[in-house]
Amino acid sequence: MDGPSGTGKSSVSRQLATRLEARYLDTGAMYRVATLRVLRSGVDLDDAAAIAVAVKELPLTIGTDPSREVIQLDGEDVSSEIRGNAVTKAVSAVSAVPEVREQLVALQREIAATAGRIVVEGRDIGTVVLTGADVKIYLTASAEARASRRNAQNIAEGRGDDYEAVLADVQRRDNLDSTRAVSPLRPAADAILVDTSDLNKDEVIDELYRVVAQQISAGGAQ
Ligand code: C5P
Repeated sequence: MDGPSGTGKSSVSRQLATRLEARYLDTGAMYRVATLRVLRSGVDLDDAAAIAVAVKELPLTIGTDPSREVIQLDGEDVSSEIRGNAVTKAVSAVSAVPEVREQLVALQREIAATAGRIVVEGRDIGTVVLTGADVKIYLTASAEARASRRNAQNIAEGRGDDYEAVLADVQRRDNLDSTRAVSPLRPAADAILVDTSDLNKDEVIDELYRVVAQQISAGGAQ
């Protein structure tokens, strides 16, 4: 499951995994843990070589139970800290470093290979990490729809109301993620595009479940 942020990807992926009785892997969380490590080590975000050293042999633990989030850095629960502003701001820089991606992609492949049926969510899963996946879905939504969702979330969580600023940030991150040299965000050639702009969460999950069932019956996947 790939796609930009603001499409509702994380919450629908988790719920889809539950409905499919599958495991679930949030690869964005892994890049966020690497970023937290970099921030804690005080490394300059412009220094790719120093970032690579800071995340070497990252002591990361990530669970795959869709009903229970486990994300640890060196045994410490960091599930809440990795969603904070500091990590969100820095994660694009850290995830663009090739050594960071190499290490995390290897771990993602290892987890997927041993998990059995699994929903893996990220930006490059269909194009790089698991190119042989039975079903590839690319979730999209207009920049405006994604910005309104994020702005509504900001209002609900007491972070203020500024739609124009949120829209500008969504467009800036889209641009960074889709133009970077390593693993740019784009749909795999064989991915099925699902546009969530005009759908609520339950409608998205129903549509994804339908797509998965159809693909599995067409392709004979397990
Ligand atoms: O999905 P989430 O917003 O938590 O991802 C955080 C960041 O991690 C993204 O903005 C992107 O820069 C990076 N990422 C990535 N490849 C993935 C998953 C996330 O580069 N497979």
